[in-house]
Amino acid sequence: MGRILSPVTFASRLRSLQLLHGELDACRACPKMIGPVVHGPPVVSPVLLLGQAPGPREGSFGKPFAWTAGRTLFRWFEETMGVDEETFRRRIYMAAVARCFPGKASGGGDRRPDAEEVARCETWLEREAAILRPDLLIAVGTLAIERVTGVKSPLSEVVGTVRRVRWHGVEIDVVPLPHPSGASPWHKTEPGKRLLLEGLAQIARHPAMHRAIGEDEASQRRSKM
Ligand code: SF4
Repeated sequence: MGRILSPVTFASRLRSLQLLHGELDACRACPKMIGPVVHGPPVVSPVLLLGQAPGPREGSFGKPFAWTAGRTLFRWFEETMGVDEETFRRRIYMAAVARCFPGKASGGGDRRPDAEEVARCETWLEREAAILRPDLLIAVGTLAIERVTGVKSPLSEVVGTVRRVRWHGVEIDVVPLPHPSGASPWHKTEPGKRLLLEGLAQIARHPAMHRAIGEDEASQRRSKM
């Protein structure tokens, strides 16, 4: 915790991420997935946000959380931490359990990536974890939470907590959040509303978040909370 990267380490990690993204963009390993591959920029950050998978619109925008779920997610960060979307995207590394759109499920919502797809895409996460060695992971939605914590728990038992886990060889604090898509109203009713705010507060006061967005900005925002 509290690491300040040397310029050489920073440059090396940035280059490694750029190379990895070049390979990731060319990945076509999952026959049922719909491209293009979606990922955020190569941000060397102590904080990694892990979503489930892009929706149907993200591919055309070329960035994760680019549509309605993203509007909700970034509003949460703006309202509780004062971090706007542009700043968040510049300072936080954004990844997902699967990087391609899985298509629609028979019920109408987005299909949940299957176990084989998740396992294939995990290889990218493994490499990203090795490059970044992040201190804080924001797990968004039940699939991301399960993949990182290794347990299936109701949202009401995990949102609002911080868990220390070993993830791809890295000791990391995990703060789970509900998925911001309109598919589930969990975060709009109690206890979800209260637990969501507790989870966001955990992120706001985490030292890695302060390093990621800048200690001066973080101090100002803390004083307003
Ligand atoms: S979901 Fe992941 S592993 Fe599968 S094709 Fe897309 S990038 Fe490759």
